Amino acid sequence: MSQKYETVIGLEVHAELRTDSKLFCGCSTKFGADPNGQTCPVCLGMPGALPVLNKKAVDYAIEAGLALNCEIQEYSKFDRKHYFYPDLPKAYQCSQFDFPLCKNGKVTIHVNGVTKDIGINRIHLEEEAGKSVHSGDNILGSDYSLEDFNRGGIPLIEIVSEPDMRSPEEAYAYLTTLKSILQYTGVSDCKMEEGSLRCDANISLRPVGSTEFGTKVELKNLNSFRAVQKALEYEQQRQARLLDKGEPIIQETRHWDETTGKTHSMRTKEQADDYRYFPDPDLVPLIVSPEWIEEVRARLPELPPAKFERFVREYGLPEYDANLIIATKAQADFFEATVALYNDPKTVSNWMMGELTRLLKTSGQEIEDCKVTPELLAKLLTLVDNGTISGTAAKSVLEEVFATGKDPELIVQEKGLAQISDTAELEKIVAAVIAANPASVEDYRNGKDKALGFLVGQVMKETKGRANPKLVNELLRKQLS
Ligand SMILES: [Zn+2]
Repeated sequence: MSQKYETVIGLEVHAELRTDSKLFCGCSTKFGADPNGQTCPVCLGMPGALPVLNKKAVDYAIEAGLALNCEIQEYSKFDRKHYFYPDLPKAYQCSQFDFPLCKNGKVTIHVNGVTKDIGINRIHLEEEAGKSVHSGDNILGSDYSLEDFNRGGIPLIEIVSEPDMRSPEEAYAYLTTLKSILQYTGVSDCKMEEGSLRCDANISLRPVGSTEFGTKVELKNLNSFRAVQKALEYEQQRQARLLDKGEPIIQETRHWDETTGKTHSMRTKEQADDYRYFPDPDLVPLIVSPEWIEEVRARLPELPPAKFERFVREYGLPEYDANLIIATKAQADFFEATVALYNDPKTVSNWMMGELTRLLKTSGQEIEDCKVTPELLAKLLTLVDNGTISGTAAKSVLEEVFATGKDPELIVQEKGLAQISDTAELEKIVAAVIAANPASVEDYRNGKDKALGFLVGQVMKETKGRANPKLVNELLRKQLS
């Protein structure tokens, strides 16, 4: 990236709220039902059908706003945002335009040891559109498309950040932090793969030192946080090349293509005017009392930033560890439950970030669904601590616990993994290894310390990793001197 330009990034995140029913009608929001099985005259936009606001959706939106340090507006209102698309039966989306529910929030991110606040301009409530199902792979290669309105009318919040991010890396950190906060509150399950969390990005470049914004480009089709980062990196380079050549940046919406790793032009960007926003005459203004706000505030859980501080302070975890462990609430809870049984936080964090994360990634499971419980992990670590098994053996025991959920002690017995700490037995093996490796013995006696490591390795090999390494070291030194 050229040093001549500063990158300016803003993000718009859409999160579906986890209500049981839709924003303006009683239809279920359950995922995976038969097409159009969860619709009614209201969410199908039939003439004369009147919307009634879902209180729980407002409640969740307030909770998200408070968790993101916003000012909750006592007065907000709903507006119609007009556009024509087959998945939108009313030809307008019910949203909030000039009076959103939440304003002026912030999210604190940590990138490369630097802490930074990213402003949140606003959070507003709106309804989801339906879903077009194309007969072919995509709209262009299809003979026809079908409409499924089950999703239409599900409540969403749109979280609009300030243009405060200066690199794709910061954008990635903002998204992961935001997702984690939303998941902690439980207002959204934030599943990008099911579409309950989506993100659009705005990016522009300007000469370093300039305070005016450059022309921004909006990026769409960003299906993962990594895709957001990669698309922004690509776009940063593309815009810098244009500016270097003295060519203008066109204000437009660009589509990210994951397979080619490039963005391409979709359409020139609409202005707010194009949507012909006006207040929805079917809905009264939304008035939120201070008591309601305080009631929601009182039930906010401990949020990631506070947990991060506490994990560093209370458990003495390095910031790097704390950041990874608190990424999800389930993980943070698992950590605390394990430490309560096995009081060595750093060791617990090492095992969680290392072996356990590896097993979870390979199997595609989440920590809350896997067979390793805090009790079983604590038991396993105690077995290492009291010398029953070596660290190496512990890894294979953990694999077995992960696969079967069996007690680690039972696994150690069944597989004969207990460490050999019997001096007499080990002395014999040590003697045999010394006899079989005269060259290494010679090296060791000539002062090459490395040779000892080799001999220890040979004893471990003979015992299939079960020898107590500390004891092997001692015995070798004794016999060699
Ligand atoms: Zn409905």
